[in-house]
Amino acid sequence: MKKPKFQSPTGMHDILPEDQKYFKKIYDVVSSVADFYGFSKIDTPVLEDAEIFSRGTGEATDIIKKEMYILKTKGGDFLALRPEWTPSIIRAYIEHGMYNLPQPVKLWYFGPCFRYEHPQAGRYRQFWQFGFEVIGEKNPVIDAQIIQICYNILKELKIKNLIVEINSIGDNQCRPYYKKLLTNYLKSREVSLCSDCKRRIKENVLRVLDCKEEKCQIIKSEAPQILDYLCDECKAHFKEVLEFLDEIELPYNLNPYLVRGLDYYTKTVFEIFYLDSQSEKDIGNALGGGGRYDKLVKVLGGKDVPAAGAALGVERIVELMKKENIEVLEKEENFPVFLAQLGSLAKKKSLRILEDFRKSKIKIAESLGRDSLKAQLNKANKLNVKYCLIIGQKEALDNEVILRNMETGHQETIKIENVVEEVKKRLKK
Ligand code: AMP
Repeated sequence: MKKPKFQSPTGMHDILPEDQKYFKKIYDVVSSVADFYGFSKIDTPVLEDAEIFSRGTGEATDIIKKEMYILKTKGGDFLALRPEWTPSIIRAYIEHGMYNLPQPVKLWYFGPCFRYEHPQAGRYRQFWQFGFEVIGEKNPVIDAQIIQICYNILKELKIKNLIVEINSIGDNQCRPYYKKLLTNYLKSREVSLCSDCKRRIKENVLRVLDCKEEKCQIIKSEAPQILDYLCDECKAHFKEVLEFLDEIELPYNLNPYLVRGLDYYTKTVFEIFYLDSQSEKDIGNALGGGGRYDKLVKVLGGKDVPAAGAALGVERIVELMKKENIEVLEKEENFPVFLAQLGSLAKKKSLRILEDFRKSKIKIAESLGRDSLKAQLNKANKLNVKYCLIIGQKEALDNEVILRNMETGHQETIKIENVVEEVKKRLKK
């Protein structure tokens, strides 16, 4: 087939009607779980001052360095399409003085993000995320609860074989020393690293740890591990998070190479993967991830407020649900009534009749664009309606409709102004 002249932008896609049921199902599960755990929904603009991401997410991260969509407004401001939600939510928390509310403030979101990535399976330039933020609480139980919430949502979506990879990347007390150690170790082996990792040593050394290149994996397997260098506070915090997870029997893997790539994380970081039932190996892309970010509120100009959160990718979940043949039932469209019309005056009257039915909350199907009565009655039959209203030129002039019982074939003529009431009565029987 010839390619159409216009297509959706590279890496961005339409969510077609046949996929809406997955999005709706995920939305419904997320919103009911969020509700249960006392989260309030927040929406923020898709565009934000680009600086909240360069400061928050971090200047040296791939997301900021390579993947942000930035535009300059006519007024000269630099705005970015959000590559993730967390800095936007913290901006809103500060801007609206939410630190005056009882803490913690618990927020959830669901909406699109934008990253100028190399498009491939599970990696797009526009994709949807949902997530949770708990702002104003430093207790490790929150870290565990956020993991539990993400895990439970995926379970409720019938996704099996999940595994949580977890690590602690320390804080400002212990991480700088570890970074120095790691840098020294990697510098002594720099020649054997991939070119990206050579750059990362200077810019974002922890990222070397999650490089997927084989040669870098070999080198990092002998690198010093951060868990051995955590300060007492971070060590105790992490221990408690793991104890909470043990308590709820949530399966996790300690992964000393998990660093999450963003600057703002402190202490706990985690990602959730799906284990392929055949190979028992993760299938590569994480379904979601998150962790604690105790310094972000301050970095964005607020008070010293601890926080933790997580984000999951909707497209990756949908793809997995399809791959695993997880059935999502579409709500069956059940129309009790069909309106068939013939002639232009009848069409006009039909618009009013449909409106009367909508107001009375009785579902009524139609095929207003069609002129053939036979085609319309065929559709009514397919929909298995109980009653069909038929309005032709004569009926329209007399302000009447024919009400046909589709089971018995019995027909009667009714005044238009009474039709809703008459149908209601018959449907109740
Ligand atoms: P991140 O905070 O970057 O780990 O993103 C959280 C989740 O969002 C990931 O685990 C993915 O499920 C999803 N995600 C991130 N980037 C993309 C992308 N480019 N395309 C599709 N989903 C993505």
